[in-house]
Parts: sequence; C-alpha cells; structure tokens
Amino acid sequence: MYKLRPYQTEAVQSAVDHFRHQRSPAVIVLPTGAGKSLVIAELARIAKGRVLVLAHVKELVEQNYGKYISYDLSAGIYSAGLDRKDSAEKVIFGSIQSVARAKREFFAAFSLLIIDECHRVSLAEDTQYAQVIRILRAANPKLCILGLTATPYRLGLGWIYQYHHRGMIRTEQERFFKKCVYELSLATMINQGYLTQPIKIDAPVACYDFSQLKLSGAQGSFALAEVEKVLKDQSRVTPVIVENIIDMARDRQGVMIFTSSVRHAEEIFKLLPQEMSAVVVGETEGSQRDAIIHRFKQRELKFLVNVSVLTTGFDAPHVDVIAVLRPTESVSLYQQIVGRGLRLSPGKEDCLILDYTGQGHDLFRPEIEDSRPCAEAQIVIVPCPLCNYDNEFWGLVDDEGEIVEHFGRKCKGATECLETFKVERCSYFFRSKLCPHCDTENDIAARVCSGCNEMLVDPDKSLREAMSLKDAHVMRPDFMELHPRIDRRQQEFLEIRYYDCDGNHLKEFHYLNGKASIRAFNYGFLRMHLRRPEAAPEIAGVDDVISAQHLLRLPMFIIARKKKQFWEIREKVFL
Ligand SMILES: [Zn+2]
Ligand SMILES: [Zn+2]
Repeated sequence: MYKLRPYQTEAVQSAVDHFRHQRSPAVIVLPTGAGKSLVIAELARIAKGRVLVLAHVKELVEQNYGKYISYDLSAGIYSAGLDRKDSAEKVIFGSIQSVARAKREFFAAFSLLIIDECHRVSLAEDTQYAQVIRILRAANPKLCILGLTATPYRLGLGWIYQYHHRGMIRTEQERFFKKCVYELSLATMINQGYLTQPIKIDAPVACYDFSQLKLSGAQGSFALAEVEKVLKDQSRVTPVIVENIIDMARDRQGVMIFTSSVRHAEEIFKLLPQEMSAVVVGETEGSQRDAIIHRFKQRELKFLVNVSVLTTGFDAPHVDVIAVLRPTESVSLYQQIVGRGLRLSPGKEDCLILDYTGQGHDLFRPEIEDSRPCAEAQIVIVPCPLCNYDNEFWGLVDDEGEIVEHFGRKCKGATECLETFKVERCSYFFRSKLCPHCDTENDIAARVCSGCNEMLVDPDKSLREAMSLKDAHVMRPDFMELHPRIDRRQQEFLEIRYYDCDGNHLKEFHYLNGKASIRAFNYGFLRMHLRRPEAAPEIAGVDDVISAQHLLRLPMFIIARKKKQFWEIREKVFL
C-alpha cells in the first residue's frame, strides 16, 4: 500500500469534510509534481459509492489509472483511445470524449465525479463536461463533484472558483466550482523540498519584444501569424539567444526549449549542436517522438526543442534548464512549461528558467485579476480595518519596505456561514464612489449602483466627453499645493492648487470648521486622495490636512468646466 505525504492527506480530508456538509462542486489546487494521482487514488479508494475519474487526454487517464492499480486496487477504463470500455467496476477512469458518447446505462449510480485538469470545465451548457454532469446528476442528484488542477484560472475568465477556504472571495461572478477546499502553493512545495528551486533569469542577454502582440479570438490567445511576424522582424535576436542558451547550459543535464512555431523550432534547431539536439513538433510521428524522448531521458540528447507538445504529461525529471522563447498569453501555460523543470532528480540542485520573452510572468504570484498598474508596483499586504483579512493588493513601498500607497478597492475577505454555508463578502471599501441617488458605496468602475440600479458616472466616459467639449478643460497635473486661506468674513479655509507642466493651475476650496464640513471633506476629498485610505489621519482643521499632505496622491486627470470667469473642478480621475 502507499503512504500519503502530509499535504496529500490534508487535501483528501478537506474534500471529505466539504462533501460531508454540502454538494456544491469543489476544487483542490495542487502544483504539478505534487502527486495528484495519489490524491485521486485515495479519494477513489475510500469513497463509499462508485467513482468516475475524468480527464481530457488519454495520457492522463492512463497515468491516473496506472497509479491506482499499482496499489493492487482494481478499476476500469472507459476510453476509445485506450481501446477499453469497462463499465462494471466501482472505479472507472475515463476520457471525457468517450464518456460523453457512452450509453445511458453507463452513468448509473456514481456518487463521486473527479475531474482532472478541471480548469477546462465551464458553465456553458453545450460542452461535453456539462452534458456528462447533467446525466450523472439526473441519475444521482446527490453527486459530489471534485475538480483538481494546478492552475485554477483560465484565460478570459479568471478564477474558476468563487470562494477560497482561507476566507476570500475570488470573484462575485457565477462559477461552476463554488469553493476551493484545499490549496498547496508552489512556494510551499519548493520550500518543503518536494520540488526543485527554480532560478528565473529574465532576458539573460537579448530578448524578443512581444509587447505589440494583442490577444484575439474568444479564447484571447495570440495569433500565430502575428507571432511569426514579430519573430521575422526580430530574426537577428535568435542566434544571440541560442548562443546564450548553449553557454548557460554548459554544466547542465537537460535543456528544454519552448518555441512559437514549427518554423521557429527548426530555425533554433539549426543553431544548436546537431549531435545532441532534436525537435519534437505536433506532426512528429508517434514512434519517432517516443524514440527522441527516450534518447533525451537517457541523456544522449541534451537539447530538446518543442512547440507546445510537451507541456502535459511529459516527465523527464533530470531537466534543469527551461528556455522560454514563445510568448505565453496564459499564466497556466507558463506554469506548465516551467513545471517541466521542477521535478526532483539525483544530483540536481536547481533549474534555470531562461525567459527570452520579456513578458515577466511571476511564477509565484500570477496576475489573475488586475494587471500591474505601474512598473514600480508590487504586491503588498493590506489588512482590512473591518474584518482583519490580509488583502493582497498592488501597491508602492518606500526604501524601508513600508507601504506608501496601494491600489486596492474592495476588501476580498469573506466568511462562510457554518449553518447555511452561504458565503458573505466583507462590505468594506478602501475606495469607492458614493451613489448620488441613494448614498450606497460602489466600486469605482461600477456603471450601475448596486443599491438602487441608477446609472453612475463613468470616469472614462466623462473624460472622453470633456476632451471634445469647448467649455471643458482636462488637465494632467504635475504637482499640487495646499494653502491655508482666510475669507472676507475671517473664516479659515483650505485651498488646493493643481499645476500642470506649463504652470497653469486649477483650484478647489474646502472649509473645515465643524462636524458637517469635516465629514464632507472626508468624503469629497480625503477618501479619493489618500494613498492608503484605510489609514486615514484624524482631521480637525486646515492645519491637520497640511501636515498630512505627504499621505495624499495626485489625480491622473482633472476635468474642469468653465463657470462664468473661472474653471470649476468637476471630476478627478485616479490611476
Ligand atoms: Zn474586510
Ligand atoms: Zn444608488
């Protein structure tokens, strides 16, 4: 019998606990190399009812099945590609394509459905997964559905589940999977010695410039023709890159090179030492491919060039250099590519990740929701003043590592009710816009008020409008000044001036002489301008604002409208 690693036991236990109380589909996130086929095997073994394990390629079906029977357990296979259509066993490993075509009788009495690489499952009703799930649920309304993946997000969709067991909302949009019940991070796997340490080198010498590439199509991927054009325009870069790979890999065991196209692969292959290199592309014939992979694993070949064929299921643990020469539009593809080099192998200390794409993907903190607002931004931890949840937001830090500004809007903390299992999101907004009709706080980008459904002002739209109006002025401020002033009735007020690079200025005024005016100032000015809205200073008068001015940020744009003789600030747009 097998022995599970501690985290594998935890993963199994989390799934069991979840389905003990509810039937909403759940996800377990385990990085490549964490041994998810073992987790699947254990769940299938201990399940009381029948279990169906689905995967989208026959290699995965074979792998999961192989692991299971290696522990002297018996199971069936349902896959046309593997030439077997078993249906009587308690546990069946199937390929989705074949199972979707199976007869109704096949689907009787399954109590647990496990989906491998589950980030491929969507809510759309016309997919094979949706079809199979519908039939299984019709046969057993209490069916438990568990997905496993290393990358719980999909291009164009974002997170594939809504709620994380550590108490955070990933998305408020509807998702097939409701909850991630267990997640082991790549960093933990590496720190605990289950995977090799990657050493990432961005653009070691020269790199391609893929920054002009645009995502296209429903899946939002790069068009091959566009990629080819970039490579053609930058063809002088390729020999420099290949020379660098050879140089960096001098004392290394196995090098995998990921290229953009067949033509690109062949171009690179020609530049490598022929006797120890080979190319595998989609069209490479099966037996020839097996022979190449065998020679690579035997270390007769050192350089293996491939075009996106060796990303799933390929396993050569000795690989200690990964060279990425193809633009990767999706984080999950990037992680799969790098994952090929992180397996442990005797004598291997680390794996070099040579990234020649200039795209700067972060292996440990993938950018799933919001893209980096500016080059200096990094992930900062901002605790919520209401629920204490530690939010990860893009932010700016000073030399000492102190947070000076962050770009977070709404707290991502959430709690699950222990009785109803309903997930309640924390209501705290770091930044918001108040609805002028009902005073409800809304996300800055919201078009419609969540409280009263009235239309809200869209800053982008007002910016566009202002650009085209004669009596409107759009300023890009350079700096601002705060001045205490006294009016004719000897009342003190605060004047704020915004200057552009030509020395022109726009100004606004605020009185701070009473509860109501201070409250208005807090809402109308401070909340928008504070670099860290949750750390608001106590304001009792004009002097307090002036001494706190280092805590304030400048707007990106200011929109002003002509009012009699002077320009009145109507709206400020922040990054
Ligand atoms: Zn909160
Ligand atoms: Zn409203």
